[in-house]
Amino acid sequence: MIELDELLMQLWPLAQQHEALVETLPLKQVYGRVLAASQRSAIAVPQHDNSGMDGYAVRCADFLQGLEFSVSQRIPAGQTPEPLEPGTVARIFTGAPIPLGADAIVMQEDTELLDDGRVRFKGLPKLNDWIRRAGEDIARDQVVVEAGAVLNAVRVALLASIGIAEVPVYRPLQAGVMVTGSELKNPGSPLEPGQIYNSNEFVWLGLLKQLGCEVRSVGIVPDNLPDTVAALKSLSDCDLIISSGGVSVGEEDHVKPAVEQVGELRAWKVAMKPGKPMAFGKIERAGRSPCWFFGLPGNPVSSALAFQLVVKPFADLLSGRPLQTADWRARMVPVTAQFDWLRPDTRREEFLRVRVESGVAHLFANQSSGVLTSLDQSTGVVRLMAGQTVAPGDVLPYVSYQELMK
Ligand code: AMP
Ligand code: MG
Repeated sequence: MIELDELLMQLWPLAQQHEALVETLPLKQVYGRVLAASQRSAIAVPQHDNSGMDGYAVRCADFLQGLEFSVSQRIPAGQTPEPLEPGTVARIFTGAPIPLGADAIVMQEDTELLDDGRVRFKGLPKLNDWIRRAGEDIARDQVVVEAGAVLNAVRVALLASIGIAEVPVYRPLQAGVMVTGSELKNPGSPLEPGQIYNSNEFVWLGLLKQLGCEVRSVGIVPDNLPDTVAALKSLSDCDLIISSGGVSVGEEDHVKPAVEQVGELRAWKVAMKPGKPMAFGKIERAGRSPCWFFGLPGNPVSSALAFQLVVKPFADLLSGRPLQTADWRARMVPVTAQFDWLRPDTRREEFLRVRVESGVAHLFANQSSGVLTSLDQSTGVVRLMAGQTVAPGDVLPYVSYQELMK
């Protein structure tokens, strides 16, 4: 058996060597993509000191002479002002550049327009009031979005705010999906005796889409070697294939021999529960990085968790995201157990499904790896070492499903 930490350590360098393809796209097409090169600003934002209010640009020292001034110029946004004439004020509007010599803005509400066109101020201005300084948002030459960042709405807007029209981004990962099992049936028709509905495919399609992958699925593959080989071959131009079921040691488990036939296989028993049997391999692609293969257990909970704990970080690295987003272990937080767990697995670490509310973890009663409802009714998992028991009040490391998929 291999420890999960050891497995991740072996897998990640392989994913980091993978050559992700880059394309340059206009900003409006990059939402959800991973940025391939850090972007610096060629300008300061804002470019000029400007007014944060509709009101008057003033020189504070002039107020020694009184509170009434004539208006020497009018500065709407988008206009270049003249220097402020001493002893006068300038009418100014939000976003307009501050005239040379002015050192505060007084908002319109704190003034009164006199009949002779002059302005009376209700009080003394404060130095620098309502002046937005050049570069206070972004300095010239500052890195605004780092390579490896997922381009969400705000980051795309940040790039727009520094005048960048197109950026290099990684191509979406091509992911292939297959689910093995002669007992499987797709939803839409009634089950015959001994059959079960295929749900794993539907978990994965959703999770892979969430990761921004382009997904191709061959659906259900019956338990025999020729069909399993054919399914693998038909997906072998993908960057990544995920397969469920058929990785145990039974006579109906054909996934490992099939991978050996078309590529290279490394099979593991991972010392974790749920999700022990796991297969990993690769299929060479001419002139490109290989197609990576993950054979996950068939049990719905095992397959979903193995995806989130092992495949998702690997896929992150394949698609150019940095190790910080891949390594969910660094994002675990302490929670207080509200339950006891007295019969631990002595050889495998365990991930228990729990519902966390206000830092307190409640155990989902049925921890069987076949119970898909447990994933819906829990918020995440706590991680126990092999042999670890739990008593109420114990503090445990926890990661939510939401955090796992970030
Ligand atoms: P296996 O790993 O092929 O031995 O499958 C383990 C268990 O998971 C069996 O009870 C299967 O029926 C179930 N299973 C396998 N594939 C799926 C699937 N696609 N959807 C739901 N359950 C599955
Ligand atoms: Mg099976």
